[in-house]
Amino acid sequence: MTSYERCVEIAHNLWWSWHPDVVEIFQLVDPARWRELGHNPIALLREYTPEEFEQRILELAIQTRINVAYRHFKKYVSERTLWARQNAGVLGSRPVAYFSLEFGIHESMPIYSGGLGVLAGDHVKSCSGMGVPLVAIGLFYDKGYFKQLIDANCNQVEDYVDTDIANLPFEPALDKNGNKITVEVNTKSGPIYARVRCIRVGRVNLYLLDADLEENSDEDRKLTSTLYGGDVKMRIRQELLCGVGGVRALKALGITPGVYHLNEGHNSFATLEAARQKMVACGMSFQDAMREVAQQTVFTTHTPVAAGHDYFEKSLIEQNLEPLYKALGLDLKSFMALGRQNPEDEKEKFCMTVLGMKTSRYANAVSSLHGVVTRRMWRGLWPNKTEEEIPVGHITNGVHVPTWMAPQIKRLFERSMPNWSEESIDPNVWSEVYGIDSGDLWETHCALKNRLFDFARRRVGRQLTRVGASPEAIEEAKHILDPNALTIGFARRFAEYKRAFLIVQDEDHFDRIVNNPDRPVQFIFAGKAHPADNIGKDVINRIVRIQRNPKFSRRVIFLEDYDINVARHLVQGVDVWLNNPRRPLEASGTSGQKAVLNGALNFSILDGWWAEAYDGANGFAIGDGSTHVDWKVMDKRDGDAALETLENQVIPTYYKRNEHGLPIDWIRLMKNSIATLAWRFSSHRMVADYVKYAYMPAAGGMSVKMPR
Ligand SMILES: *Cc1c(COP(=O)(O)O)cnc(C)c1O
Repeated sequence: MTSYERCVEIAHNLWWSWHPDVVEIFQLVDPARWRELGHNPIALLREYTPEEFEQRILELAIQTRINVAYRHFKKYVSERTLWARQNAGVLGSRPVAYFSLEFGIHESMPIYSGGLGVLAGDHVKSCSGMGVPLVAIGLFYDKGYFKQLIDANCNQVEDYVDTDIANLPFEPALDKNGNKITVEVNTKSGPIYARVRCIRVGRVNLYLLDADLEENSDEDRKLTSTLYGGDVKMRIRQELLCGVGGVRALKALGITPGVYHLNEGHNSFATLEAARQKMVACGMSFQDAMREVAQQTVFTTHTPVAAGHDYFEKSLIEQNLEPLYKALGLDLKSFMALGRQNPEDEKEKFCMTVLGMKTSRYANAVSSLHGVVTRRMWRGLWPNKTEEEIPVGHITNGVHVPTWMAPQIKRLFERSMPNWSEESIDPNVWSEVYGIDSGDLWETHCALKNRLFDFARRRVGRQLTRVGASPEAIEEAKHILDPNALTIGFARRFAEYKRAFLIVQDEDHFDRIVNNPDRPVQFIFAGKAHPADNIGKDVINRIVRIQRNPKFSRRVIFLEDYDINVARHLVQGVDVWLNNPRRPLEASGTSGQKAVLNGALNFSILDGWWAEAYDGANGFAIGDGSTHVDWKVMDKRDGDAALETLENQVIPTYYKRNEHGLPIDWIRLMKNSIATLAWRFSSHRMVADYVKYAYMPAAGGMSVKMPR
């Protein structure tokens, strides 16, 4: 087998994406093209003939590295003795079917928009690592989510780019007879068709439905064009396709799921199709079939923000779901009741979250605090139950350590922590971080910080060149960011409740802090606003204006086009990760968990995961966890609290140095943060919890009550 053939095989399984040693091989082949091609190995390989590629590998003398990577890969995919062997036996040959409208696995696969998708990607990767039998189902968007550009007027511009299908690692999804699979979903105005595509993510298959087929109307072909791009009319058809089409695809593939896991309400229609199939196969009534499917179904809700839940008008339900509810033996009224908190209320729209809650045995929120909020929010669904009896618990989100930990940190840990492995969720193992030499940890961190700054300078320079900035401004971009200054990162969707503006509300005070000549502070912002979110876009404009104000231009940076790549650079390079949502609207948040893995300290409102993670000595808290009915009051109070904590705790601790120039108290906090948080907020711990509290009980195993 040639090096070329080995690389092609590796490139066709996204396993490579969380193995930095393997990524480095592709990068070495042509560093500049690697960057320009969006870190896509298939696109890179397509630029060479096999002979040219072989020649290049000889020049670089990396055949051995390729052989090692290939052996590692083959061992990984054929491994049988994994965690799930002992811990998820009941699942056996009936896998979990995991439904999500987005998957964030790598920047070269733009079928995600933010936290929900990245969480789904991390979930899949951990299931692969732990050997949990799971298949994932979603949609393939050929234009993905938009790329963000900032124009000369400081505004966000959305650019939708066609993905070249030939550059994606699609495998044919075939039925028992070896034929390509097309599924059909009926609506009142005729069927929608979709082709089933398959992508390998380590040991897990991700099936993606693609409606861009000639059999479909032009409108339906666009159903899988852009993520969250259309209106409600489009959204209901996307959700119908993913949920119902997804269950049909599994059947065509010959897969009989033991558990259905709905990642957010978008896919709740899946349970109805599963019930319909049971009715046909077993001659059951709708009630009996639905009860059985609900026993197998786990529903995860992700947001207390009202706009995050889908509501559909009765007319839309009728137009799109009539064939399905007729097949279930229901009329429109009884069907609408499944999506209403109060079935008798004719004015209530059909809510996908309500459907998910009603057709699952158990639902979960994504942090402890979010569990409390969720039970309160949906208590109307269980009028006869006390709050204690409501079947909603929580499993706090986590992140995939191999994906988010910098390779430099990983190598340091491997050298200095005798029992450590990136897959470990044992607190004792992670406590070995206290044994690392403080100077080594600090030096590694500083190297990563410089790497981030190089990245930021390049990005800002590129952006200024594009908008036609002056040569002076472009030259200036080479000098932004001071490696010795305390550097704070803030990156996430620019939804209003996330309050990117919080820290700059009092601009004079902000100025004094940032431009203090003895103890300067720098901020790097990044994030996209949803194309229809004008408030979020205004916040972006406000931050970019601050960046373009000469007073701040070296110290306040907005990086355009936040994606997994930008996120990785940021969480691996900053000193502090800032998060200041309006409590309790952040269900969990995960970017701060990624920062933990790299030694950055969290500086956050006590909301989402941080409300249960902060212990007084593993980072910084903003405020005391109180809320206020008036947002204006709350924003002012939280903004003042943030600046106060920054001035009185964060800055003094960072700039206090010992005789060797090391911030020894700060490094202590870094170690506390890693030791107490890294294992607890990893997606391996999260998946272990899903197996124990959700998947095993749903598959008929022992019932263990989920944490509340
Ligand atoms: C992790 C991640 C998010 C989610 O971050 P939150 O802290 O939950 O807001 C969003 N987008 C990208 C690209 C990410 O990597």
